[in-house]
Parts: sequence; structure tokens; C-alpha cells
Amino acid sequence: MATFTLEVSVTEKCNLACPYCYVANIDKFLSIEKFDKAFIEFKKMVHRSSTTGLPGSGNQGEKYHVSYFGGEPLLNMELIRHATRKFKADPACEHVGIISNLSLLTEEIMEYIEKAGLGVSWSFDGLSSNESRPLVKNMEENKGYDNVLDMYNSKRHLLKRALRNERFCKVMLFPGNIENMTENLQFLVEMGINCPDFMCVRDDIWSEEDIRVFRVECHRMADQLIKYFDQGKIIVIGMFHLAIRDILIGMTKSKRPWGCFAGTHGAVMSVEGEFYPCARFASKKLLPMSGKEYNGVEDYDFAYWQKQLNPQNYSKCKSCKLYKVCNAGCSYSQIRNGNQPVDSVCELNHIFYDETLRIAEECKNMPAYIEYVKKVFTGGWDNKYLHKNADVNDIKESIKRAAEQGSNHVLHPITPTAMPYKEVAVYG
Ligand code: SF4
Ligand code: SF4
Repeated sequence: MATFTLEVSVTEKCNLACPYCYVANIDKFLSIEKFDKAFIEFKKMVHRSSTTGLPGSGNQGEKYHVSYFGGEPLLNMELIRHATRKFKADPACEHVGIISNLSLLTEEIMEYIEKAGLGVSWSFDGLSSNESRPLVKNMEENKGYDNVLDMYNSKRHLLKRALRNERFCKVMLFPGNIENMTENLQFLVEMGINCPDFMCVRDDIWSEEDIRVFRVECHRMADQLIKYFDQGKIIVIGMFHLAIRDILIGMTKSKRPWGCFAGTHGAVMSVEGEFYPCARFASKKLLPMSGKEYNGVEDYDFAYWQKQLNPQNYSKCKSCKLYKVCNAGCSYSQIRNGNQPVDSVCELNHIFYDETLRIAEECKNMPAYIEYVKKVFTGGWDNKYLHKNADVNDIKESIKRAAEQGSNHVLHPITPTAMPYKEVAVYG
């Protein structure tokens, strides 16, 4: 049973120009009027998803979670303040959070986040941020800064408050940055981030050579993680964490009947106040979920998409050795691939599942690892084992130390302008 996830795209404008983002970066903002109208439609949609979907395949109640998303959501605080009042007054709303690059945090915004009790999910590329996340030139909000790492460095006291005890950030892995992923891990840990959510872009962008490099680099990062466990530090790395969780759940119960929330038990509210399965579908205006009926049939049929996007049903997966545990990946890229998982992404899945099993084998007697696995089952992380850093450490110092630690490995510059693609699965 899953809780409905709503992402509210409060603006399509951003102060960063990440070359892999699928949102157009234009001056569009969700207005209060459009939000209020869409909120009524949203409540009907959550009800429909729980009453017309397949039993056990999606939302089975009227409860929901909300995340503000964009563009950069901190650029539309007026809407966030208004919408939060509405969500918090609704007993069916279980959680409200913001997915943000956090470079525009101010004292005033931080105070509001704390007072309103909003969760924060930081989207941050780490070492390569200045290249993969360039500042939009001539934008008022970026004035006084040369690059995004300088922005973060000057706001470390605010970042520390935003990230609270569990230091989490979402880092995308794509062919342009995999050669530095171990150094990036060291950089993030040095900076104070103990839960870096490294995730591979799950689209058809990986060449055979990229996959070969990924195999080598994934092994190197797993070695570094083993060292951390050996030192008594619990560092939670997204892709290995997802794999161990899916293995434990898949082998003891059964794997879940969805890959991601998109269209099975979740939706995005666009800046126009319209609904789509996720922001990626919204960027192409694909599969609108308006609730309108045509000849007695609603335009978006939850039961149909819950069946289509169920990783238990993909014929390709049925003969795969990961069938019992793997949740397949991005629904959007699968729909574009004839409703089947993308071959190159399956290769990546096999690599990081293999590394996850190697980590388990090598760490099985280490106290920090035993504690970690216990928490995967029971939740409720115990601060005793978490890597402690009182501050979000100086970013420039952290880069220097990460470079020293990985001194037998050259730091490869990434060239964002040479990235051959746009529109990749950057989250989810
Ligand atoms: S690796 Fe690919 S084929 Fe195997 S279960 Fe996962 S998505 Fe399916
Ligand atoms: S994984 Fe793909 S389909 Fe799912 S939310 Fe992310 S972008 Fe959308």
C-alpha cells in the first residue's frame, strides 16, 4: 500500500542552467488562483486513484504527501506559503516538503521552513556543481557570486539548518561525471553529507564504453563505502541503499508492484494547474490526468497504468536473475521504449546489484553494517552510528581534501556543453 505523492511545480524558472534538465527555464509561475482551482481537482484525483486503481497496486487510501518542485521552487515563496496553509489544514496530507537546489536560501526562508515544519530535499551534484550547474547570467538572485559552490559556501550556516541531522542530497550520475564519483563521495562525506543519494540517469544515454567505465567506478565507490563501514561510519549511498532494501524486501515478501510514483499513485500539478504523471510527462504534455470523461471513460485510467507500469509484469524481466528484486526504473523511459526497461539501464542495474552483494559479503561482520541493515528493515536511524559532523564544512577545504584522498586518481573535468542529451530522468 502506498501513499499518493503530489509534486507541485510552482515555477519553471530556475537560477541555475543545468544542461540535463528537462524543464524549459522560462518565467512561468503557478498562481494562487490556479492552485486553488487545481487543489479541488487534486482531491478528486486522490479519491479516484484509491477507488478505481487495482488493489495493492497503488494508492489505497485518501492520504497523500506533497513536494514543491520546479524550476527552483524557492523563487515562488508566495505560492508555497499559500499552498502550505491549505495542505497543513487538510488531515489527509501527511507530509509537505521542498525539492530545491537550496542556493537561494535566505534567513527569512529558512525561518519559514522551520516554522512551517517543511521537509527539505537538496538537489546537489557535489564536486562537479560549478560545471554541471552553471549560474544563469544576469539574474538578480545570483548577483555577487561567480559560481554555485561559492553561493553554497557563503550559506553553510543555513544549509546546516536546512539539512538537519540526516544530511541528504540527491546526486545524478551520468556518463559525464562517473569518473569522479568516488572523489565526489569523499567530498560530500567530508562536507558533512552522510546520505548522498547517488542515482543513475535511467535513460538510453549509456554507450558500451560508458557502462564499462561505470563498472570500474562503481567498484571503486563500493570499496570506499566498505572502508567507511570498517571505520564505524554509516554512509547511506542511494543506489546501494535502494538495492539492499529491494533485495531484503523482495526476497522476504515480494517486490512492490510499481517502479516509481508516476501515474500509479502520484502526479505533478503543473504551473498551469494541470495534472500529469510526473514533471517529465508534464514537460511533454504526455498523459494528461484531467479527470474528464469521454464516452463514459475517464481520460486517465489508474487501473490500466498501474498494470502497464508494474515491474512484475514486464516480459523482459521475467527471465532476468534480478526479477524478484529489481523495480525496473523510470516509467517515462519505459513507455518510450515500447513498455519495456531500457537495455543499457538493465546493465547498470546488474552492476550495482552485484556491488551491493559484494559490500554485504565484505561487511557482514562489521558493527556499523549490521546496524545499518537492521535500520533498513526497521527504519528509525540511530545517531550513534551516523557519521557526525557538527557543521557543513568549508566546501573549498572539502574539495582539497577529497582530491588528496583520491590522489592516485586524476580528477576529471566534466564538459557540460559536450553533453549530448537533454531531458533525462534527473530525479524520481
Ligand atoms: S535488470 Fe532489467 S530485465 Fe532485469 S529485472 Fe531489472 S529492469 Fe527487469
Ligand atoms: S523515474 Fe521517470 S517516470 Fe518516475 S518520476 Fe522520475 S522521471 Fe518520472
